[in-house]
Amino acid sequence: MVMQTAVLHGIRDVRLESRAIPVPAAHEVLVKIARVGVCGSDVHYYTDMHIGQYVVNAPMILGHESAGVVAAVGSSVKHLQVGDRVSLEPGVCCRTCYHCKRGRYNLCPNIVFMATPPVDGAFAEYVAWAEDFVFKIPDHVSLEAAALLEPLSVAVWAVQRSGIGMGASIAIFGGGAIGCTVVQAAKAAGATTIIVVDLEPFRLEFAKEFGATHTINAREGNVLEQIRAITTPLNGLTGSSAGVDAAFETAGALITCRQTIEAVHSGGVAVLVGLPPDPMVSLDIVAAASREVDIRGQFRYANCYPAALALLSSGKVNLDKMITKRYALSEAGAALEFADTQKKQSLKVMIEV
Ligand SMILES: [Zn+2]
Ligand SMILES: [Zn+2]
Repeated sequence: MVMQTAVLHGIRDVRLESRAIPVPAAHEVLVKIARVGVCGSDVHYYTDMHIGQYVVNAPMILGHESAGVVAAVGSSVKHLQVGDRVSLEPGVCCRTCYHCKRGRYNLCPNIVFMATPPVDGAFAEYVAWAEDFVFKIPDHVSLEAAALLEPLSVAVWAVQRSGIGMGASIAIFGGGAIGCTVVQAAKAAGATTIIVVDLEPFRLEFAKEFGATHTINAREGNVLEQIRAITTPLNGLTGSSAGVDAAFETAGALITCRQTIEAVHSGGVAVLVGLPPDPMVSLDIVAAASREVDIRGQFRYANCYPAALALLSSGKVNLDKMITKRYALSEAGAALEFADTQKKQSLKVMIEV
């Protein structure tokens, strides 16, 4: 039995290929994939064939934001049945190392993550996946939204890392798919002042729809001054000690990394969700240290799918609204091309399998 897949062979070279349908192992389920979101990392592999140390050396199937219907179950699977509608958490950890045992399994050195070389992703008709990384979704949740539990999990982890509570003020640098999910997750966590900074009016409009209370176009005026002006009535702070309780870098640029650290008030938390293109950057570390700014890194997420699903199924977040355009699996190359070239007017591209 064969299935269709979309395989990345080289820069901007995605080919449709037939592969054997995988056979689920004892603790795996076979999922007939229905929807896969196109992530920034997929686009990056499509245009560059590498992200940092991760290099595509052999043909690889992209896609890691997926949902579908269980088509078969392994002999030991108990909590899932054929016909269940499910969302797939794309990173399966080893479950035995130090980090896994501490619950920080996103740091597992042995993790197998979809569409991170050399692991194949979900631009395919079927995927066999570990049962404990497959989540059953309720009937009223769409398969498209279920696929987007992946970026929502990134947002849930970012908000958990920030430690914000009720009535918090936050700033989010970047109003793309991750920025807009952080808006929604932070609002659900009790943030009441949510400032989004971006260069594109299209994204700022979306951020507002999702719950941003203030938007700042970084082309217009001094970003930090505007953030401090918004927060001064909240905490009375002025000058270099002023700012939000927590800030999130989701744009992946050097300037926004600096601004994320500068935007928080003394004692605040800066979460680096995105990463700058060049790892060696110059930051005013003395200012950050003397203001006791907590700079927190983030790598994917751990144990966030249940919370993300709860937010989605209770209606606290809206993921369907993020989809800009849909393509068939056979048009995967065109979907990646669109996601790359139309960044300024696209939030999320979805593949219908
Ligand atoms: Zn993603
Ligand atoms: Zn591990």
